[in-house]
Amino acid sequence: MPEVDARAMMAKKGLDPVEPYPGSGRPWASRHVCGRVVTPTLGNVAQGKGICRYCFSDFPYDGPAVLYLIADLHAVKIGCASPNLRRLSDHRRFGWVTAWTVDVATGDDAYNLEQAILSWWRDELGIEPAYESDQLPQTGYSETARWDEMDPRRVLTKLRQLGDKLGIPLLHIKETESATKRPLTAADALGARARAAQSRLSETAPRASRRSARHSGVQGQPPRSPHRAGRGVEYR
Ligand SMILES: [Zn+2]
Repeated sequence: MPEVDARAMMAKKGLDPVEPYPGSGRPWASRHVCGRVVTPTLGNVAQGKGICRYCFSDFPYDGPAVLYLIADLHAVKIGCASPNLRRLSDHRRFGWVTAWTVDVATGDDAYNLEQAILSWWRDELGIEPAYESDQLPQTGYSETARWDEMDPRRVLTKLRQLGDKLGIPLLHIKETESATKRPLTAADALGARARAAQSRLSETAPRASRRSARHSGVQGQPPRSPHRAGRGVEYR
């Protein structure tokens, strides 16, 4: 597509590109009508998606935010949340407990720290996600690591180093006992009510019909076997 046509499509959605057209599938740095420079792809913009994360997201990219680490029997999971922490109660319903939260000045800070931790896990240490996509109800499986390979205190220590390196102040750190004590229950794709129903069923069901009891027979799905998965970028 000629650049002039591409620019016209961006303009329709309030975007003014600040660099030459890179192709419809590539991030194209553009100033949104709100004044912020964002990097949507023309392909997404044409479908009305991903136009400006500051204006069209529940997540406060330019306001106070929280980076959190939650844990279950098998895994730890990192994520970003808005300060009301509604995200964490969602996770609690599925069996996760909070290990720590770190207040930061903006959602951008939280997101950048999260990505830096994921890059440390995946690229530097070669640690794979602990769960497969169908094992977690939300899109968060790719932000997990196995307890055997990563614990909350270690992530927090690395986070302090990354905060210094990236110039991102960690404003307030709050740890719970799960920062050092591994939870006894496993997260799963069921809500609390379904889990209770399944647990009543399994008391009468033959043991062999349950999924792997490799992990001390505690209810919940076992972690996946390692293989590399794509890294999610959406707000979790
Ligand atoms: Zn905007």
